[in-house]
Amino acid sequence: MLTIGSISEIIRFTQNDKEKKARNDNKGNDSELHIWLKGGNKLFMLNTDIKAWLLPVQPLEGESLSHFLGRVRRKNYLSPNALGELAGIGGVVARWEKFRHNPFPSDEELTALGNLLGLRLFQLKAMLPSEPMKLEPIRLCGACYGESPHHRIEWQYKSRWKCDRHDLKLLCKCPNCGARFKIPSLWDFGKCDRCGLTFFEMTYWQKGL
Ligand SMILES: [Zn+2]
Ligand SMILES: [Zn+2]
Repeated sequence: MLTIGSISEIIRFTQNDKEKKARNDNKGNDSELHIWLKGGNKLFMLNTDIKAWLLPVQPLEGESLSHFLGRVRRKNYLSPNALGELAGIGGVVARWEKFRHNPFPSDEELTALGNLLGLRLFQLKAMLPSEPMKLEPIRLCGACYGESPHHRIEWQYKSRWKCDRHDLKLLCKCPNCGARFKIPSLWDFGKCDRCGLTFFEMTYWQKGL
């Protein structure tokens, strides 16, 4: 039975192929990419479009772009640079994950990313801030996280200091050990990195704020 090699492996081979091709015909055609399949100990090469092989991820209600990009990358075993390269938008993915939106993501960049991920422009725009935001500290409502485990873009708005949905003050650090929260694209396990308290358990402390 054939199994698909890991995406990082695929990209490594694809980059080598592109370099070889560029050397050969001095053109470096991006539209034709090579996919490698593992079958037993052998590698099979297919000439195909790599976009068809990215596992799709749907944005969640109110999700921030940083959190969404992290989910896309983990599901597809991609680094920020590899995702940017596949979409043809270079290093901006790593900046967006840190909420560095200056210059603000352009429609061209978002469309290119959307083409790769099978998403429409408006779906990506919905994950961007619609009012002034604070990059730091990263904030959260544990009760919201318990309902759906994702970072909401509105938690970073300058004007927000509490969750309107639960009427609880937003947390800007772990209430148990004081560690700051990582950027949302790295929220893999939904708990404090240092002491292991889950984001949902933090709801208890929010009530006392
Ligand atoms: Zn909430
Ligand atoms: Zn902690």
